[in-house]
Amino acid sequence: AVTAATSDDTIIAQMRVLIDALKTHNNAYYVLDNPVLEDSEYDQLRLSLIEIEEAYPDLVQPDSPINQVGDVPLSAFTQVTHDTPMLSLGNVFEYDDLRDFMRRVNDRLSVAQQNPEYEMELKLDGLAVSLKYERGQFVQAVTRGDGQTGEDITQNAKTIRNLPLWLADAVNIELLEVRGEVLMPKAGFERLNRLAEENDNKTFANPRNAAAGSLRQLDPAVAASRPLAFYAYSINQGLPTTIHTQSAALAWIKDIGFTVSAVEVVQNPRAAQAYYESVSEQRAALPFEIDGTVIKVNSLALQQQLGFLSREPRWATAYKFPAETVMTRLQSIEWQV
Ligand code: NAD
Repeated sequence: AVTAATSDDTIIAQMRVLIDALKTHNNAYYVLDNPVLEDSEYDQLRLSLIEIEEAYPDLVQPDSPINQVGDVPLSAFTQVTHDTPMLSLGNVFEYDDLRDFMRRVNDRLSVAQQNPEYEMELKLDGLAVSLKYERGQFVQAVTRGDGQTGEDITQNAKTIRNLPLWLADAVNIELLEVRGEVLMPKAGFERLNRLAEENDNKTFANPRNAAAGSLRQLDPAVAASRPLAFYAYSINQGLPTTIHTQSAALAWIKDIGFTVSAVEVVQNPRAAQAYYESVSEQRAALPFEIDGTVIKVNSLALQQQLGFLSREPRWATAYKFPAETVMTRLQSIEWQV
């Protein structure tokens, strides 16, 4: 019994080290917009904790950040509770894992519902924001925050050039909630960092952090000077009842005035893989950063039937590109040999 207690203590101690590190890095990334680690290094820490938790489910610490979305938002902004949680996404990196994801979806569907149609989108590398429109009028923008509560960034969002402030086609919709990604295009990011260097100001690590930092500027005039863009990817309230699929929802939202990224409906895993590969080839030429694709069950009814896990939907996953920095490091190791 003594040995078991000792080894439990050792495992808990290992978990505590990882939990503390993840908490520090979550705060640096989500709250301060100033990450210390490369994403791949952070993902490695996270994976280490997941592996220990899976091996010792009884020892999982109550404050484990594994099922947490983002981090608790900055208190400088008014906090707003989301009508429905804004979650993260699970992720897969390989075709076999994509097949496993599809298998898990099938496992929860009836015989008649097997192998549903999927819809694919770019995985935009920015930050998630919820926008509200009352009878066509833009009224509020809130960041994802910790998934339950975000920051009211309405004033800053108003300065985003392609974010519609008025939707003539939505005057009959009491409340429309559109969710999507705010990002900074590559060219604007480079210009911003050049300017910062010239003025001896701090530069941003990447366009995602630059977008997050800009949107959460306390001075809307500074936010207005930052080149941000909004890409819509879901309608969470107010969708016309005649629309039954994710692809039709995005076509509608584009029609009424939003910018939407490249969308494709796929009927089988091979077609999903082909979309992923073609996006991967176009990645460098895109005007903004992406870190993969997202695959979603196309039927909104099936999405509802599949539901959510604590941190992510069951009906969607990110199909991510391999981390660029890891490849660079591997290459540099090869050069040393
Ligand atoms: P995520 O990027 O893994 O996935 C979820 C997000 O994808 C959603 O919230 C949404 O904003 C976004 N998204 C983009 N395109 C979308 C689309 N078409 N449809 C739906 N959603 C779309 O998000 P996460 O949970 O914020 O964070 C995990 C990532 O953050 C990992 O890559 C991790 O490495 C990184 N991170 C890094 C550090 C660090 O220290 N470097 C710290 C924390 C997190």
